[in-house]
Amino acid sequence: MATRVLIAGGGVAALEAALALRALAEDRVSVQLLAPEPHFWYRPLAVAEPFGLGEVRQFELAELAGAAGAIFSPGALVRVDAGRRLAPTSAAGSIPYDVLLVACGAVPTPAVAGALTFRGPADTERMRQLLEEIAAARVGRVAFVVPWGVVWSLPIYELALMTAAYLAERGLDSVELVLVTPEEEPLQLFGRAGSEAVRELLEERGVAIRTNSCAVEFVGGELLLVPEGSIAVERVVALPRLRGPRIDGLPQTVEGFLPVDAHGQVHGLSDVFAAGDITNFPLKQGGIATQQADAAAELIAANAGADLTPQPFRPVLRGLLLTGRQPRYLRHELTGGAGDTSVASAEPLWWPPAKIVGRYLAPFLGAFAGVESPPEAPSAPGAVSVEVELDAASAHDVAALRLELAPDAEGEAGATVADAMSTDPLVVAPEDTLGEVAEQMRAHDLGSALVADYGRLIGMITSRDLLRAFASRVHPSEARVREWMTAEPISTSAATPIEAAVTVMTQYGLHQLPVVEDERPTGLLGLRQAARAARARTGIGLGF
Ligand SMILES: Cc1cc2nc3c(=O)[nH]c(=O)nc-3n(C[C@H](O)[C@H](O)[C@H](O)COP(=O)(O)OP(=O)(O)OC[C@H]3O[C@@H](n4cnc5c(N)ncnc54)[C@H](O)[C@@H]3O)c2cc1C
Repeated sequence: MATRVLIAGGGVAALEAALALRALAEDRVSVQLLAPEPHFWYRPLAVAEPFGLGEVRQFELAELAGAAGAIFSPGALVRVDAGRRLAPTSAAGSIPYDVLLVACGAVPTPAVAGALTFRGPADTERMRQLLEEIAAARVGRVAFVVPWGVVWSLPIYELALMTAAYLAERGLDSVELVLVTPEEEPLQLFGRAGSEAVRELLEERGVAIRTNSCAVEFVGGELLLVPEGSIAVERVVALPRLRGPRIDGLPQTVEGFLPVDAHGQVHGLSDVFAAGDITNFPLKQGGIATQQADAAAELIAANAGADLTPQPFRPVLRGLLLTGRQPRYLRHELTGGAGDTSVASAEPLWWPPAKIVGRYLAPFLGAFAGVESPPEAPSAPGAVSVEVELDAASAHDVAALRLELAPDAEGEAGATVADAMSTDPLVVAPEDTLGEVAEQMRAHDLGSALVADYGRLIGMITSRDLLRAFASRVHPSEARVREWMTAEPISTSAATPIEAAVTVMTQYGLHQLPVVEDERPTGLLGLRQAARAARARTGIGLGF
């Protein structure tokens, strides 16, 4: 009998996986696609839409699934019962599976209060209105912001550059544009050549740039930065911060992402895979999503009996930057400390030259739309294409723009985490049942427990997680901590200044922060105790 593969999702990773499975496993698998939204949106051109330079394409998911040899079922995955291999859904009851691939994408959430958050197609009209206001000389100073936590910054560079081109065409040279980013260099992820080309373009178009700047709020005409400072502007356009959608029964990070191995297997669960924006890989990009989907599909196909050696995920970053003018192409290889080997070229660096590059998806969509390659080939005015080979390990260092707990820069002897933390946290194992943990938490009168595997902190479970699990009718002596914990929790060390810990807890919305020494849990910091001990000064750094 064919292996029943259920793919939760109807986006880039889901379609690429369905296509790869059909090509690699043929009739050894039956593939079902489950998604709440009946359409597939091809989003990259959302940035061009407000300027009249392109259009977001939309396809019927049922038709795409059919052409990819899969069945489409409307509905959302709400929970995973990995023990029984059942996927309870919002629509059709529970779907039994042999292999589950979770490709549910990420949810954009506002990152800079008071700004126009540009999420994609849903915000092209608001962006168009802003352009009209600028053109009517009602707005004279606009900031484009990459907030911390954003891991795909390209669209804001595109919006800034295209706004500048739009203004130049209309002779509106008094409007001031500034791009604010926590990166050390603009588009840092794309290497030296990428950064230099973008810096040059920004300068050419008169867009000022503020690097190493972390904007958090736009209020009263001021864009506020942390740890300190502000910029006076009249409007702010910011990228959203991405969060994984909550799906019960899966280990998710505090941001909702699923920890996976190099073949896309979700840590600790058998026959559950994940690919795309919902995974904990720090880069949320369509091309990366397709590469993860291919790696997962290869292992699933091999397990189903296909004659192939599954290759692990090897991230190569390809980006096409829309600028509104002359095309330019860039390539950057980043290979774990081997130096910067970025180059610039006038030719496309991959084929078909799509903005979302996928081995199976790009030609499939091209054929479906009746064109040789997807609609935004770099003949689009002013495209810059970028290709980066990422070393998976170092990608975590360079990709994520996050707030990090840094030692006190001024070396002042202020209060530290050690002054406010509790030193006897409850530590449980990932294979413990929820019933066992609930009992221990009650016995110690605690609201949370740290989860350690061979002594190393891998998660955290709170009374809220237990409530969530029991509300889903799981059996206390069957459900395991691993399925309901927050995976890879943000943690701190005892020597961290208390103000830094409070800032990070506030920004991430955390009530408790594990304290570790050499990855081993040594304590727990509660927000109330931390806030009490904190001084007024902040001391945080930016991590790349
Ligand atoms: C404005 C903009 C421009 C971009 N430009 C580029 C670009 O130029 N190049 C590039 O490579 N990438 C680009 N991206 C990023 C790219 O779109 C994403 O990285 C990519 O779509 C991620 O693929 P995914 O399959 O993980 O998620 P998605 O494509 O978002 O698909 C998620 C799917 O899961 C479904 N879903 C959600 N919840 C559930 C659930 N509970 N159960 C079942 N299904 C569920 C959704 O309905 C959807 O079908 C851009 C994104 C934006 C917003």
